[in-house]
Parts: sequence; C-alpha cells; structure tokens
Amino acid sequence: MRVIETWIPATLGSTRAPTPGIREFVIRPDQFDVTAYPVGSHINVSVTIDGLPETRSYSLVGEASSRGFKIAVRRAEDSRGGSRYMWQLAPGARLDITRPASLVAVDWERENYCLIAGGIGITPILGAAQALARRGANVTLHYAVRSRADAAYLEDLASLLGDRLLVHASDEGKRLDLDALFASLPKGTLTLFCGPMRMLDAARHAWIGAGHPLADLRYETFGSSGTLPTEAFRVRLKDSDVELEIPRERSMLDVLNASGFEVISDCKRGECGLCAIDVVALDGEIDHRDVFFSDHQKSSNAKMCACVSRARGTITVDTLLRADAV
Ligand SMILES: Cc1cc2nc3c(=O)[nH]c(=O)nc-3n(C[C@H](O)[C@H](O)[C@H](O)COP(=O)(O)OP(=O)(O)OC[C@H]3O[C@@H](n4cnc5c(N)ncnc54)[C@H](O)[C@@H]3O)c2cc1C
Repeated sequence: MRVIETWIPATLGSTRAPTPGIREFVIRPDQFDVTAYPVGSHINVSVTIDGLPETRSYSLVGEASSRGFKIAVRRAEDSRGGSRYMWQLAPGARLDITRPASLVAVDWERENYCLIAGGIGITPILGAAQALARRGANVTLHYAVRSRADAAYLEDLASLLGDRLLVHASDEGKRLDLDALFASLPKGTLTLFCGPMRMLDAARHAWIGAGHPLADLRYETFGSSGTLPTEAFRVRLKDSDVELEIPRERSMLDVLNASGFEVISDCKRGECGLCAIDVVALDGEIDHRDVFFSDHQKSSNAKMCACVSRARGTITVDTLLRADAV
C-alpha cells in the first residue's frame, strides 16, 4: 500500500561533482515558481531500478533558487541501485518528482542552535545554516567527515559561518566527541542533526546523557544500512504453512504485500511505525533499521518495521496482530 503523492514532470538542468563521491543535480519542474520551502525539505524522485519504477528521496540543498531544486546524491555502493540511476542521468533528462516536503520542524526563537552533519547528511543542514545565519542566530555547525576531500560544500559553509564551522575529519584524528559537545551546550539549545543511523544513536544517547530534552534534538536520517549485512532471510506466517524468502534487494513489506498478505504502510523509511508487525518467534537475529521504536522495544524483538528492518535466519510473524503504531 502506498501514500498518494502528486508527481510533477521536470527536467535535469545541470550536474556537477562537489566531491568525487557526491554528484549534484539541479532539477527544474516544467511549471516552476520559486517559492521558499521549509528548512529540511526533500523531494522524491522516480528512479528506475532493474526496469521497475522506485522512489528515492533527496534533501534540497540550500534555500530556494530560481535555477530549480538542487539535490546532491552520494553514490551508494552495495545498493539496490537508486543512486546509480541518478548518477547516470545527463542534463536534459526528463524526471518525475514530488513537491518539497519537510519532516523537521525548527523553532526560530531559540538563543542557541547547534547543527550536526555526518557526511552526505550535510544536504538538509546547509539550508538550515543559511536560514539561521540570515536571521543572525547564534549557530555552530559540526561537520563530521572521513576527510576534507569528502566534505561537500565546505567553501560555501566556511564563507557563511567562518569559525562557527567546525570540521571533524577522521583522517586528521579529529573525531566528533558528541558527549563533550552536548555537555557544553547551554540548556535550551536546539540541535538539528542529519547523519548515519549509528551516529544518530550515539547522538541520542549523548543528548539524553547531557540532560537535554529529547524534543530539542531534531533529526533526519536517510535510511539505515543496519548493523548486520544485508542478506536474504525467511519469514514464516503464524498459523499457516506459508514461508517466504526476503531476498537481499527487497523489503519484507514489499514481499508480504506482493504475496497477498497486506501490510499497511506510510513513510517506508522506518519513521512512522505504521507497518510495525508482530514477531512471534525468532530463529536468528533482527536488524532493526527504523527510528520509530525505542532501544528497549528493539531489544525485546516483539515487533519490527517491515519497511526497513531485516533479519538473519527465520522469523515468524503475525500479520493479523499488527500493532497500531504501538
Ligand atoms: C528524507 C530523505 C532525504 C534523503 N536525502 C538524501 C540526500 O540528500 N543525498 C543522498 O545521497 N541520499 C539521500 N537520501 C537517501 C536516498 O533516498 C537513497 O536511499 C540513497 O540514494 C540510496 O539509494 P540506493 O537505491 O542507491 O541504495 P539502497 O538500496 O537504498 O541502499 C542503501 C543502503 O541500504 C542497504 N541495503 C541494500 N539492500 C537493502 C535492502 N533490500 N533493504 C534495506 N537496505 C538495503 C545497503 O547496504 C546500502 O548501504 C535521503 C533519504 C531520505 C529518506
């Protein structure tokens, strides 16, 4: 089951490579009006993977521009192919996209703001930095990267923020110490985070450990590659003889729906919890890749988000006793 989205036709205007592993695309809808969009907005792009239509989401880089929507795509190796599809596009290519939508709410009245980006997570953070700098807010950006050569938009950020930009490049031995950072932030600081799932887990622990309210840590993740390797696993349906294989390149949600066992869903990013399914037996291990369940709920393995989470071995689920978002 899918959410109804309005798709609009667009043309790829230009591409460039801000770093060797990241490609930038400027996409102009046929009917384009330069309307400001909220900080943290993304668009969905219709991509083709193995000849079939799929959707991938991309954050808009920076504030609205008359040239079109700017996105930047990291080439994901070991993937189903959405980013590879994007990378082979040449200017002039026709695309279907959705209008910008934001999943992150920002209050503009705080005294202090802390922005944290991990790698390609800089894409939604750049627009936040521009908006806050324009308002004269007290903002600091911590940008964690493997090396400066991997850090997209470094020059733009340096000229925008000056010494309020702190680059933590692991090849320079400068890893971001989230515990120390959060302990040093004044109470009431609003932190916006975008980075990989493991970094987000560390940020949440450090944030709570420093005594800040969880509501003041706002975040976006781009989906998780999990803690176990992505491999095929088996799903048995409770009280039936049905056993399905979930191949590497498909989600449990897709396989269940394609096999006639309908599971409702919405975000398909492990955020809304609508596709949470009851796990009644486990012969193996579950790799929870959602941001919906708490650590405690994940460790109990009683439910899992069928859209993103995976497993090793065989799990038995009860599709009829699906949770109503806990
Ligand atoms: C709101 C939002 C904003 C985003 N913004 C950006 C952005 O600005 N730039 C950007 O580059 N990306 C962004 N993304 C991520 C983007 O949508 C794609 O997920 C990304 O391009 C990878 O797509 P893919 O098909 O190449 O990889 P995928 O196949 O989706 O693989 C991604 C990772 O998942 C693992 N994986 C492989 N197979 C599976 C499987 N069957 N099930 C689950 N995981 C699997 C892989 O190990 C890989 O590490 C954003 C995502 C969201 C939700």
